[in-house]
Amino acid sequence: MGSVFRKIHVHDTSAPSVAVRGVTVEYDGVKALEDVTFELRRGERVAVVGPNGAGKSTLFKVIAGVLEPSKGEVMLYGGEPSRHICVSYVPQRSQVDLTFPVTVWDVVMMGRVGRIGLLRWPSRRDRELVQACLELVGIADLADRQIGGLSGGQQQRVFIARALAQEAEVMLMDEPFTGLDVSSREEILQILDRLQEREVTVLVATHDLSQAAQRFDRVLILKQKLLGFGSPDQVLNPEILQEAFGEQLHLMGADGSVIVFSNVGCCGARGGDNE
Ligand code: ADP
Ligand code: MG
Repeated sequence: MGSVFRKIHVHDTSAPSVAVRGVTVEYDGVKALEDVTFELRRGERVAVVGPNGAGKSTLFKVIAGVLEPSKGEVMLYGGEPSRHICVSYVPQRSQVDLTFPVTVWDVVMMGRVGRIGLLRWPSRRDRELVQACLELVGIADLADRQIGGLSGGQQQRVFIARALAQEAEVMLMDEPFTGLDVSSREEILQILDRLQEREVTVLVATHDLSQAAQRFDRVLILKQKLLGFGSPDQVLNPEILQEAFGEQLHLMGADGSVIVFSNVGCCGARGGDNE
């Protein structure tokens, strides 16, 4: 990683990187989130799990400051999130128009817009940073390619590079693993390891419970309400998972120790609201 990366600017070191306090979000009077409260430490990696419609994307939008909670508040390093440059939301790929003719380089440079403004040309440092971000996620050789022609794993890396170019201190990744093969998932996880070295706080919405158990510091289980938040050992237990997933949950092994979550009806090939 080159010296072009600045040390992360922390607003208030004593404050949690993310604090969500009593957040309720209603869409047309229907609660998508209800009284959700938790705090994250700087640089930790948290899996957000919950069934389809649990409010994962809504939670990310509230933290990113693009959606106002009906009740409660969100603080990032002690500051309000609205148009906060230090938080980056990596949307689900399915929610991005990938037919738009734009190169990988341009997409990552878009991450700089918040820093440089629309009316100024990118400086040398902006260009160096974009290059460094592409290298960090291992796609420098794809810089001139159209984003629409890339594989799912490569596209996901482009979005991570864009978030890095934004110099995000808090990164919200909405189902980055959905539709990716095992090796692409592993590559993304390794990129997340590098972000952890830089003390970027990362929240990842995922359906993969065994991955959440093995590769994340803490797990947040959501179904409108916060059903559990703690180390994988603390919260990935059959009672909480049954409450969250009900019928969709498959527990393997006599003692329920190996937990497998069936994706059927949650993501993948269906015409639902997320894919
Ligand atoms: P998840 O990401 O966990 O699948 P979402 O946050 O997308 O859950 O959605 C939570 C609930 O809020 C769902 O019932 C969904 O239908 C509803 N919802 C999400 N976005 C909107 C919206 N813009 N308008 C109305 N209802 C919405
Ligand atoms: Mg979602």
